[in-house]
Amino acid sequence: MTAIRPPRQRTLSKSDFTLARTCEAKLYFREARYPDNREFDPYLVMLAQGGYMVEALAKARYADGIQLEYGSDFEGDAALTLEYLQRDNVTLFEGTLHSARRLARADIIVKQGDTIRLIEVKAKSFDSQEHLASLADGNKGVFVTRRGISAKWDKYLADITYQTLLLERMLPGVTVEPFLCLVDKSKRSDVNDIPELFKVERKRDRHGVERIHTARFTGDVALLPELDLVTEVPVGYVVDMMRDGVEAEAARFEQLLDSPREEFTATIGHVCRECEFRIADLERNGFRECWGELADASPHMLELFSIGTLKADGGVSMAESLASLGKSSLFDIPEERLVRKDGTVGPVATRQRRQIACARTGEFWISDQLQDVLREVQYPAHYVDFEVSRLALPYHAGMRPYGQVAFQWSSHSVAAPGAVPRHGEWLNTEHSWPNERFVRSLRAEIGDEGSVLTWSRFEEFTLNEAIRDLAQFGLMDKELAEWVADVVGRRMVDMCVWAREHFHHPGMGGRTSIKAVLDSLWKSDAQMRTQFEGWTSLTASAEEDPYAALPAIEINGIVQDVREGTGAIRAYEAMMYGVEKTDEKAKAEWGRLLRQYCQLDSLSMVLIFEHLGRRRALRS
Ligand code: SF4
Repeated sequence: MTAIRPPRQRTLSKSDFTLARTCEAKLYFREARYPDNREFDPYLVMLAQGGYMVEALAKARYADGIQLEYGSDFEGDAALTLEYLQRDNVTLFEGTLHSARRLARADIIVKQGDTIRLIEVKAKSFDSQEHLASLADGNKGVFVTRRGISAKWDKYLADITYQTLLLERMLPGVTVEPFLCLVDKSKRSDVNDIPELFKVERKRDRHGVERIHTARFTGDVALLPELDLVTEVPVGYVVDMMRDGVEAEAARFEQLLDSPREEFTATIGHVCRECEFRIADLERNGFRECWGELADASPHMLELFSIGTLKADGGVSMAESLASLGKSSLFDIPEERLVRKDGTVGPVATRQRRQIACARTGEFWISDQLQDVLREVQYPAHYVDFEVSRLALPYHAGMRPYGQVAFQWSSHSVAAPGAVPRHGEWLNTEHSWPNERFVRSLRAEIGDEGSVLTWSRFEEFTLNEAIRDLAQFGLMDKELAEWVADVVGRRMVDMCVWAREHFHHPGMGGRTSIKAVLDSLWKSDAQMRTQFEGWTSLTASAEEDPYAALPAIEINGIVQDVREGTGAIRAYEAMMYGVEKTDEKAKAEWGRLLRQYCQLDSLSMVLIFEHLGRRRALRS
């Protein structure tokens, strides 16, 4: 006879709690196991991997720590944690905290007599020098501003407050001292290849998808003093500021756990644009359930550039106000409200009005100044794109956490208007800090003459930071620094500004990323696709985004592709630090994926420039 299991008691985990603080309805969808788009976001997956390594580093500093396993029997896990906590002195990793329906897994618990240090590890960048300077000035450090808890730190502080309250409930009479253990960007690593000192372990989740479960420090413990990249920061004074509010919120969420959907407050508005449960084309779509038929408007008001700043009467959010009136189309937005506080039409409102006008007519718009702007480009024109990696725990000795590794550039140089672009590229394959070689190789390619066209100011920031870092590595070169200053100050042209101020395609909506712009022009411009085929020998289809034309490559039996920035960083890691780092064939294939991706990024700018030239010619 099969035993019938009682239904699982719903619990409020610390991640349930932090999610519910952003919107109660999200708690419902999470409990009901609706698909969450964070599970499919490659950038978040990459960040998670870095987070596990930071946690493993923080734990490695406690040699006597006991790693507790945990599973679905949280009551058993909590009982075991309590049993360990009967000892006078003990250090636990992943102890289970449980009281009533509240649940949390504590990263590190250090018990000494009647005092417990409760340490929450976050891969969040923090500057201990800035924090200490603020405290020395009589302020409350980086966590508290004049207005109260810093919005940037609020969710991390609410998390540790939630755990503190839980532990105090479990062990009345014990003093809990809460800490955040953070990645300290005022420190520098003295060790090379840090990611190789960790073993990442994966487990299959309930969908059968392999996910990171934990990471372990497998390096030599003698290296730990040189790996001083995290700082434990006491936050008891902030927890005291937050405890009453957190207690009230936790009590409300706890009581909601078994409630029907309508009990969960869901105020639909601009915040829903980034909702975790907004998943296109899936039946179980939380966003769709909250918005009902209002989800279907096309174009939707949530597509409006900077919709979050737009206010209705009384200062309430415009999106919230319209939704409450049963409206959600972009065309429902009253254009007379697209003004600044003083009633004038500023740059944001100008862009919003243009977006609505183009969506209404379906027509492309170019400014009267575009002609002059294009004429300012000096030849040879160099279209450049960079790829950069920033890891919490950096690759190279001398780097600070989240320091920049500029590992690849691609350029397309056009000698004269209408000339076929010449492609140049550089990809780091050496194990030393690459930023100096990155800048020198770029200089050899683009020289001292001609405009340097980019999309956004990312390339400008990358070059400036690379020069600042040279001094840190004892490689300062005045002449190279002057060359960068000249590129940044005199030669750089940010094409994204053109997309914001000088042209608009209805397909762009409120977006001006290079992929959004290229994709919208690509569909409507057969000449662009012909040019692409002629320059790349790839097949162009109006139905598919040009990045889809990049061929995937099978590497050691697994089909891999690189079609966005996070994919490029992961490919670089696989090539330099992954299990295939000594497999020359696999490394060459990872390199091929990276090269074709970065090449398309710089080529995209040439295609857009050519498109604008044709539009201008049609006009004149
Ligand atoms: S769609 Fe909006 S109201 Fe619904 S869960 Fe998401 S954020 Fe909350």
